[in-house]
Amino acid sequence: MSTLIPPSQSPWLAHRATVKEITPEYYGVNTYHLRIEPLPDQRTYDVAPGQFNMLYLPGVGEAAISVSGRNHDDDTWSHTVRTAGGVTRTLEQLGQGAPLAVRGPFGRGWPMEAAVGRDLVFVAGGIGLAPLRPAVAWALAHRSQFGRITLIYGARLPGALLYAREYDAWQQQGLQLQSTVDRAESGWLGNVGVVTLLVDRLRPLNPQQTTLFACGPEIMMRFVANSALARGIPAERLWLSLERNMQCAAGFCGHCQLGPAFVCRDGPVMRHDYIAPYLEVEAL
Ligand SMILES: Cc1cc2nc3c(=O)[nH]c(=O)nc-3n(C[C@H](O)[C@H](O)[C@H](O)COP(=O)(O)OP(=O)(O)OC[C@H]3O[C@@H](n4cnc5c(N)ncnc54)[C@H](O)[C@@H]3O)c2cc1C
Repeated sequence: MSTLIPPSQSPWLAHRATVKEITPEYYGVNTYHLRIEPLPDQRTYDVAPGQFNMLYLPGVGEAAISVSGRNHDDDTWSHTVRTAGGVTRTLEQLGQGAPLAVRGPFGRGWPMEAAVGRDLVFVAGGIGLAPLRPAVAWALAHRSQFGRITLIYGARLPGALLYAREYDAWQQQGLQLQSTVDRAESGWLGNVGVVTLLVDRLRPLNPQQTTLFACGPEIMMRFVANSALARGIPAERLWLSLERNMQCAAGFCGHCQLGPAFVCRDGPVMRHDYIAPYLEVEAL
């Protein structure tokens, strides 16, 4: 009997991956479509909405990046990345064809099954739409199992609203989109103001039967949560995706500790009533 951990269960083993295509989204933000080779003992590579990968570039380092989509046509997984530092800048410079290593998927994603049968509200700020995009796709693929599906999305400028090319299709499939920008540009006829204003105006038909998923800057999520609670959405149906400095991504190193939890292992998607006391502590 072998005591070796099967490769698919070891968080340290990396998949080989290649950047097959790049979709520029906005200044300094690109979506990288990665072809990921399953490990030898796996037949397929699969990811749940809201999970993340650790993208590793030899000689540079590793960064946690959410999986933002699945493309069956060319068998790739999308990762929407804002160029920030070493890994993300090098990824942008290497461009199409870049070889990299991918550990993951890691973490707990959005509780899609638990939301079935209810109204669903997505709230995203900026690049926070990236980890919500697979959840939007999942909900629309199971459209008949949900009540109203609403996406409230805010960005600094109209051009920074991600995936705008997909909004028509989402709306045709039954998603109600409300977008807003901090600053309008010429031609923008939509809302101006922070995303929380739209949450304040949200009137869920039946708040007790509404589930809300949010991802964006932490300050935004705190206001969104307060507003959702004030609208009567129960705390146990409020889910936030958190970002913390991560190193191992597997619950060993403690870098991403939040109270008794590790965001990498117990999150990044966490229930509001569980994390609320820790969100009140600055810089925790
Ligand atoms: C679960 C999870 C999912 C993520 N998903 C995405 C994603 O989909 N797309 C994306 O672009 N980024 C995402 N991030 C953030 C990404 O991991 C960091 O920006 C990462 O540091 C980039 O690596 P780098 O080597 O390019 O930059 P680094 O050299 O590591 O960092 C550049 C600068 O950003 C600061 N920084 C690093 N990490 C963070 C952080 N978590 N919050 C605030 N500042 C930070 C550093 O202090 C430094 O000043 C995610 C993070 C987590 C934890």
